[in-house]
Amino acid sequence: MLRDKMTDNIRDRFQEVMDRIRGAAQACGRDPESVRLVVVSKTVGADSVKEAILSGAKILGENYVQEARDKINALSLSDISWHFIGHLQTNKAKYAVRLFDLIHSVDSFKLAREIDKYAGKIAKCQPVLVQVNIAGEATKSGISEEKAVNLVKEISRLENLSIKGLMTMPPFFNAPDRVRPFFAALKVLSGLIRAEQIPNVEMAELSMGMTGDFEVAIEEGATLVRVGTAIFGERS
Ligand SMILES: *Cc1c(COP(=O)(O)O)cnc(C)c1O
Repeated sequence: MLRDKMTDNIRDRFQEVMDRIRGAAQACGRDPESVRLVVVSKTVGADSVKEAILSGAKILGENYVQEARDKINALSLSDISWHFIGHLQTNKAKYAVRLFDLIHSVDSFKLAREIDKYAGKIAKCQPVLVQVNIAGEATKSGISEEKAVNLVKEISRLENLSIKGLMTMPPFFNAPDRVRPFFAALKVLSGLIRAEQIPNVEMAELSMGMTGDFEVAIEEGATLVRVGTAIFGERS
């Protein structure tokens, strides 16, 4: 059977990323099972996403609600988990709670309250991560490091959502050693929050690391790495 080059590429690249994750975990004495790959499929068509799933992808990460909904409907696969990783507008919260098993990007009480409201309507307890703007960049989403603990405390009182950890998008794209301090800082922050023993809050997950820096993120404690380009190629 003739296979097209693009899908073969996805399979090979997916395997390569999995191997690199395993290698990075083992090299720093971590259980490779403690790191999960979120295959970032924003702007990628359903056929390519399907190929990634056939290659073994278990978690897909999407940035846009409408785009994700179309793909999820087109693929209708039961054992795949879909994560929302982009900036979530409050008016999209009601769709997000129906579509996603984990929302990585909660950075305000207002957004958390909307998620809580719509999760309640479908009797769901929505798992979320709190996105932290760890470098304090003016242009990035995320709560500041200083305000993160208070935000977590506030959100923890909402009944229909539960905080599972933290997420960050550091600066210095493709310069792994310049991002290391930011990954380390997110881990420290997660330890500080854990020490507060806030009811209804787990600090089990650290979502950090992308194509250019996921190995460094794993060395610094990532449990979820979000990788798109290394699997699907450059986005157009
Ligand atoms: C696009 C995106 C990624 C994946 O980035 P790559 O460099 O393509 O691996 C990860 N996280 C978020 C939040 C993204 O928007």
